[in-house]
Amino acid sequence: MPAGASSRIESLPPEVAARIAAGEVIERPASVVKELIENALDAGATAIQIELWEGGFAWIRVADNGTGIPRDQLPLALARFATSKIRTVEDLSRVRTLGFRGEALPSIAAVARVEILTRTAEETEGARLLAEEGRITVQPAASPVGTAVAVRDLFYNTPARRRFLKSPLREAERVRETVYRYALGYPEVALRFLVDGREVLIAPPGTARQRAALIWGREAAEELIPVLWEAADLRIIGLISRPTMSRSSRAFQYFYVNGRPVRSGLLAVALERPYAGRLPPGRYPLAILHIELPPAFVDVNVHPQKAEVRFSQERSVYWGLSRAVEDALSGFPSLEAPPGLWPVGMPKPPVRPLAEPPEGYRPASRWRALGQLFQSYILAQSEEGLIVVDQHAAQEQVLFERLWSGSPPVALPTPAVLSFSAREAERLEAELDGLRSLGFDIEPFGRNAFVVRAVPAPLSGQPVEGLLSTILEELQAARREAGDLRERLAMRLACAAAVKAGDGLSLDEMQALLDALQEAWSPSTCPHGRPAWFLLDREEIERRFLRR
Ligand code: ADP
Ligand code: MG
Repeated sequence: MPAGASSRIESLPPEVAARIAAGEVIERPASVVKELIENALDAGATAIQIELWEGGFAWIRVADNGTGIPRDQLPLALARFATSKIRTVEDLSRVRTLGFRGEALPSIAAVARVEILTRTAEETEGARLLAEEGRITVQPAASPVGTAVAVRDLFYNTPARRRFLKSPLREAERVRETVYRYALGYPEVALRFLVDGREVLIAPPGTARQRAALIWGREAAEELIPVLWEAADLRIIGLISRPTMSRSSRAFQYFYVNGRPVRSGLLAVALERPYAGRLPPGRYPLAILHIELPPAFVDVNVHPQKAEVRFSQERSVYWGLSRAVEDALSGFPSLEAPPGLWPVGMPKPPVRPLAEPPEGYRPASRWRALGQLFQSYILAQSEEGLIVVDQHAAQEQVLFERLWSGSPPVALPTPAVLSFSAREAERLEAELDGLRSLGFDIEPFGRNAFVVRAVPAPLSGQPVEGLLSTILEELQAARREAGDLRERLAMRLACAAAVKAGDGLSLDEMQALLDALQEAWSPSTCPHGRPAWFLLDREEIERRFLRR
């Protein structure tokens, strides 16, 4: 994807820079590695080598065989909001490259010593740039075509940040996850990954399945089946697990939107829906799925680390992905997938523009609240019959989905300052990223204290002390049990904030909950898998009255 790589690096005009989603780009060694790999891919590299010493705190080096940076432009690469990838505000909706903000290299140089060795194919002599404590020097130097960026003494000048991070071992683990994420998404690019001089991954260019075999093992790779689904401007391609293989967490689900690795509750639920009934509760499919659609339908500029995207046609993407998975699961294509990067020649579904929801999506008739039973169940009427909704399970699911898919922070009327024991504070400190990604605005505030300025929208109105103690309980429990921490926190908070059995609800409140449940991606159960509602349909009712 070397789009724009041949163009010059230029500073973005202020009105474009102002539109860039701001925030901390470099939080830990894994963020450095992510940005450097993305730059290498944007430069059209076909081989990338990543090296790490002492968890990345001592030394990180990413070398590629991409286009290289012309010597005269090298200093600009370290300037804030200087990029060769976009020029105008309109370009933000046409982004095809992984980078576009011109922020990564300067952010890295602000917290570490950086050395760049680079040469373009046109130049006979390369260049070496050194950036240390704000001083930049560039000198001629011998270099192969491509770019190698070395980052030394990460956070040497921000000891507070360094203290919040985990041990080198844990950070190296995060880097490994990052490298694997790109390795699985870019099987055509050769990768070599070394930790403390030890080779952790050597991945020659290959197919998606070969890459999966390298990283997940041959047996797991053999249990993967191809997905290929196309509508007019939506294309879903990749590998998913047969229902005979599953995992106890979502850690093996990889989604890429136009090549960009993303976290997305929406995509995970769309993937899992067709597995319902085929996998036991608490088991999750494995997946490597690429979602390709015109850049104008995706907002990539919503998250400082570019880890999340927003779809303008969310429902269509949801239904498209679910359809794609459903098609792939029905009939179980043979293990002998055709050779090549992706299976070809599979029948294509009819072409439909993205603006229309794919077939199979029929808006349900609206459920109307009738009343409450035992102050625990909502009785509602639909075209099909009488619906009995477990109010707690229903709201738990609604809140969980909103939290998990990332909800906007809502400012508290006044910021709350809360103190904790040293151990609790340490635990919170370590998970601040995760809490922020859920929608909390929380920061350390002196010794063992934190200031909370905003909470995720679905939790607004809840007492902050209660939310934080729920979080601490879950962090404590999570030390003993496995599972994705962010998901567990979302579940736990949703449970704590949802109406309880025994709580009276007004008719309006019931209606609001029904509407929200009908909008949910996975409305039939609560996050723990208990049913959220059941239907007594007309037939059943008539049978009981012996009218059938
Ligand atoms: P962005 O990727 O958002 O443009 P960066 O700060 O990551 O911002 O990089 C700034 C510029 O430096 C890029 O636009 C690109 O032109 C150049 N650059 C960075 N890394 C590489 C690389 N590995 N190969 C070629 N060019 C690079
Ligand atoms: Mg970049």
